[in-house]
Amino acid sequence: MPWEGRVTLVSGLVLVLLLVAFVFMTILNTYRLMEQLEQISEHPFRVLDSASILQNDLERIQFYTERLQYNNDPDMVAEVREQIETIYLEVEEHLQIVEERYLGEHSEVAALREQLERLKTANEQLFQYAAAEERSESEIVAFTQQEITSSQAEMEEILSGIMDYARDRFDYYYSAAGDIRTEGTIFVILITAAVVAVLNFYRTRIRRQTREILRQNRLFDLLGRTVDTVFFISSPRSGREDYISPNAERILGVPVEQLMKDPYVLRPYITEKERESIAAALKDGGESCWKSTVCYRHPHTGEDRDLLIQVYRVSGGEKEDEPQYITVFTDETQLLRTQRELEEATARAEQASRAKSEFLSRMSHEIRTPMNGIIGMTLIALQKSDDREKVVECLRKISMSSKHLLVLINDVLDMSKIESGKLELKREPFDLRRLLEGVADLAYGQAAQREITFGMQLVGDMDEQLIGDSLRVNQILMNLLSNALKFTPRGGKVALRVELLESNVQTQQIRFEVQDTGCGIAEENFGKIFETFEQESAGVAHQYGGTGLGLAICKRFVEMMGGRIGLSSTLGKGSTFFVHIPFQRVESAGTPPREEYRQLRALVADDDLESCEHIALLLRKLGARCDWVDNGYEALARVERARDESDPYGLVLVDWKMPFLDGVETARRLHGEAPETAVVLITAFDEDEVREKAKNVGARDVLNKPVFESALVDLLDRLWSERGAFPAREEGPADYDFRDKCILIVEDNDLNREIAVELLGPSGARLETACDGQEAVERFAASRPGHYDLILMDVQMPRMDGYAATRAIRAMERPDGKCIPILAMTANAFSEDVEKSREAGMNGHISKPIDLAEVYRTLSAALGGGM
Ligand code: ADP
Repeated sequence: MPWEGRVTLVSGLVLVLLLVAFVFMTILNTYRLMEQLEQISEHPFRVLDSASILQNDLERIQFYTERLQYNNDPDMVAEVREQIETIYLEVEEHLQIVEERYLGEHSEVAALREQLERLKTANEQLFQYAAAEERSESEIVAFTQQEITSSQAEMEEILSGIMDYARDRFDYYYSAAGDIRTEGTIFVILITAAVVAVLNFYRTRIRRQTREILRQNRLFDLLGRTVDTVFFISSPRSGREDYISPNAERILGVPVEQLMKDPYVLRPYITEKERESIAAALKDGGESCWKSTVCYRHPHTGEDRDLLIQVYRVSGGEKEDEPQYITVFTDETQLLRTQRELEEATARAEQASRAKSEFLSRMSHEIRTPMNGIIGMTLIALQKSDDREKVVECLRKISMSSKHLLVLINDVLDMSKIESGKLELKREPFDLRRLLEGVADLAYGQAAQREITFGMQLVGDMDEQLIGDSLRVNQILMNLLSNALKFTPRGGKVALRVELLESNVQTQQIRFEVQDTGCGIAEENFGKIFETFEQESAGVAHQYGGTGLGLAICKRFVEMMGGRIGLSSTLGKGSTFFVHIPFQRVESAGTPPREEYRQLRALVADDDLESCEHIALLLRKLGARCDWVDNGYEALARVERARDESDPYGLVLVDWKMPFLDGVETARRLHGEAPETAVVLITAFDEDEVREKAKNVGARDVLNKPVFESALVDLLDRLWSERGAFPAREEGPADYDFRDKCILIVEDNDLNREIAVELLGPSGARLETACDGQEAVERFAASRPGHYDLILMDVQMPRMDGYAATRAIRAMERPDGKCIPILAMTANAFSEDVEKSREAGMNGHISKPIDLAEVYRTLSAALGGGM
């Protein structure tokens, strides 16, 4: 029992004891008082009463005896005798009372009886004595005084003694009763004081307990409002809810008053099965504890919540046998969600760790494959060094394996840079046309090798000059395209579609879409393939190789650019990966409409309607009027009609590949029928053969697909200046003439130095070499100003690296020190390396391994022409 309860019990017991003592003492005192009263009435009171009667009787006896003194005739004597005998009867009666009730000395009562007997005898003698006639009055008086008066006096004295004693007893008993009354009063006062004290103590305790109960009630109420657990206490037999916590409305969405009236209002928000289960559990005699998590539809938000319901049967109702139920509702949505997230995170972490180990084995496989190729082919080349063709074949394969290895290493480096947060994106103007043409060139080549059809399409009037990181966009597109080509079988199709999604003054959002007719991806793996080191399945890894990094890198790049990446795919049919990237616009982007083009009426003939619309859009933007048709016959008819209407077409753009009447045939017929109209063939294949054919059928020029605005402007400019069409040729050393230039090649690696010399040899430039930065600085310092036209500088070198060497040259006090073009040669293609080389004072960047066309282009630009 708690301390509080014990105190209450003890004080209650004390109170009862006090009341019992009070009652007991009251009864006792009453009894004692009664006893005293009884004593008084039985003894002193009766004795006094009888004694005073006896005194009276004695006086009456004296009175009668004195009558004999005056008259002693026989009648008188007889009458007196009779009277006195009657008095004696009364005396006898009262003496007996005195004898019985007197509490004093018995000898006194005995003396009284003795005197009475004497008096009786004396009286008898007096009667006889007085009866004699001769007796005189004086004789009778003398006899009376002698025989009777003394006895009477004796008796009176004894009686007064007895009465005095009786009075004393009376006083004694009376004062004893007074003492009892005083005691009783004191006791009552004491008991009352004790009762008041106990009651006061009790009241204080009750008050404190009431305050404590109120405080606990408040806390309970506060708890009920604050916690996320609702509880009901109910007595189902009496059909009522005893308590419902005030947070019910917040958690369950139903007001407490409503629940108090009818807790079953919750039923519609719980499924039928769960309802039955709860009802069964609530039945009397069910389990003493039932719990389950149910799906609860919140009445306000309509949201499905996970509600843990626990029902406990407890005894404690008002009636002994009446069970009570405590029902607890806990909203576990967040808990379960967190639990699920934790489980998922754990699964992901485990999966990531598995993927990393798989990645390591895959990486070692991926690295070993090209390494084996390189080592094997080098050995073969060494063995067959006199067989030139074989050596060239080996070198070609070595080059391919090396490129593959480089891509792999770049991927891993990119990923590690991204993951360590060190990768920064560039924001600089770039040429979208050049970027897409570069991508398409590579894709065409790879697709042709694999016998896959590749096409590229532009949709919308996007700027050609945009601001962004073209290197990374290129990497993303190449990744998507090489995946599409990798997973598409021979005879399949891969297409790159570039569409302007949104355009405002500051930005253009462009969608790049890579479609393929490859193996496709199962929908459940859509998310997985974007994770680092993840591939769709082990089967894919086995069949196609790869590291599982490409898409992860793409995703990170796209997200860093503020865009998004996604896909749609059907297993066995193909996939479409898309990337949305917002680019900033260059202020003076696009060609404004020109006056001379306003005269132009153009016609586009292409079975691809998107392409027709795109070209028409560009032409209209330049100021020309433009129509389009989707076949050759229609084009011929339109041209004829226009001529008849004296509004002839100045330009007809005809797609090379069209059903029914192909582009070449359409061009031939158009040229025959309307020689004044410039016919231009649109083709995806920029090949000499195509140009030749075009020329043969009278086409004035060939325009590459997809048609860029700048390409269109160039074409129109060419046509209008009447220069005619140029055959397109691959750039190469033969196009460049650096004969009067001197180039210093600074490279510490012998092999790389040799490669650079070999590659640049055909340009005719004078080539000098230095083995490190230190030597380069010394050579430059020793040369006369203007001796060198350009320095190709490796970056990482012993003694002095390329950056330090460049800084040293730039710091020299000679006219060409500040302006001589210095190009970095480095394997690091990261933007921060480019940035670093710029900071050191370099003018540009050539990435290793060396791409010949890129080298010549860069050199040409740095040397100021030469073509
Ligand atoms: P990998 O180096 O393995 O190609 P990626 O990150 O580029 O790495 O691609 C991850 C996985 O996504 C691939 O292994 C493949 O399973 C799947 N995948 C990517 N592109 C395609 C596609 N065009 N068609 C089918 N599956 C693809």
